[in-house]
Amino acid sequence: MFKTYGYAAQSADAPFAPFAFDRRDTGAHDVRIDILYCGVCHSDLHTARGEWAGTVYPNVPGHEIVGRVTEVGSEVTKFKVGGLVGVGCMVDSCRTCPSCQEGFEQYCEGPGGFIGTYNAPDKHTGGVTYGGYSKSIVVDEAFTLRVPENLDLAAVAPLLCAGITTYSPLRHWNVQAGQKVGIVGLGGLGHMGVKLAAAFGAHVVLFTTSASKVEDAKRLGAHEVVISKDPQQMAKHANSFDFILNTVAASHDLDQFTGLLKRDGTMTLVGVPEHAHPSPSVANLIFKRRKLAGSLIGGIAETQEMLDFCGKHGITSDIEMIRMDEIDKAYERMVKSDVKYRFVIDMATLEA
Ligand code: NAP
Ligand code: ZN
Ligand code: ZN
Repeated sequence: MFKTYGYAAQSADAPFAPFAFDRRDTGAHDVRIDILYCGVCHSDLHTARGEWAGTVYPNVPGHEIVGRVTEVGSEVTKFKVGGLVGVGCMVDSCRTCPSCQEGFEQYCEGPGGFIGTYNAPDKHTGGVTYGGYSKSIVVDEAFTLRVPENLDLAAVAPLLCAGITTYSPLRHWNVQAGQKVGIVGLGGLGHMGVKLAAAFGAHVVLFTTSASKVEDAKRLGAHEVVISKDPQQMAKHANSFDFILNTVAASHDLDQFTGLLKRDGTMTLVGVPEHAHPSPSVANLIFKRRKLAGSLIGGIAETQEMLDFCGKHGITSDIEMIRMDEIDKAYERMVKSDVKYRFVIDMATLEA
């Protein structure tokens, strides 16, 4: 074990505070990483504030990690000291169940499912996993990603969660040129959804509750922008979408969006709000054989594919860099949908 340090939520309603803790030594298959940047996901906020059940305090969030390898285990083959790497939402899984075998580690069927980068049981330390709001981390090379070297590193960090969580459903539901695709919510996930759906050639319509984001949405790649609170604007798009990706982080009426799908269209939910959505209308679904679906991050191989795709197409997140000690203020702004479009912590600002 070695000592490292980070920032932890001490309880659901206390501000973040510096926190020293132990990481395991580098095992045969591990890489030790000095964290350079960590993105701030709304899931970090849900967890730190106890909005989802099961947060163990102190909680060190952060699952959009980019850093440099400082040590590799004797059996490591994919990475070398000095290399740039990424770590996303998972640090391990059972590796033997059908989902793991098929490369869908996020749907691991082993006991407890995949091991999250934070707030999951840590078999090495006997405690819980601590995430990327910290100086260093030790991760099995099988859950470590290669980072494209041509991109701005800080702006790559959010690809590790916001990027893959939107890439995976867009790929799974085969979004392509000639299709009309809706993205709901222009936050961290939503802005990556806009960029990726546009890169896949779709006609992209962004739905937002924030009138102030209309111009940005177009700059990010949306062909049309709809203020979802305006029923007249919404009605113009009835029965017209092949696919809608809904990234909203709060409970809301899903029917206003399912009604926009064509016959056989699908709306996939990725937001996990603290309070449940009102039950959706069944008639809205059955009369046009529409589908309501969900999707969870993406597998490791698909995450690498997404990073390589972003490297090739020059796609990164639009970020606002913050200091580690600005994290509470960043959370307050995230709650107000005031993020353009992902906060990233510069880990050089984290003092021992
Ligand atoms: P975010 O940056 O806070 O963006 C969420 C966006 O939702 C906001 O910017 C806002 O967009 C919209 N919104 C917020 N409150 C709303 C309300 N009351 N009604 C309508 N729209 C509202 O959050 P994020 O990091 O993108 O995460 C989004 C959600 O996905 C979170 O619940 C997070 O936990 C979840 N998540 C899921 C996965 C997965 O694997 N499924 C992975 C990562 C995150 P506008 O201002 O444009 O309306
Ligand atoms: Zn996330
Ligand atoms: Zn498994």
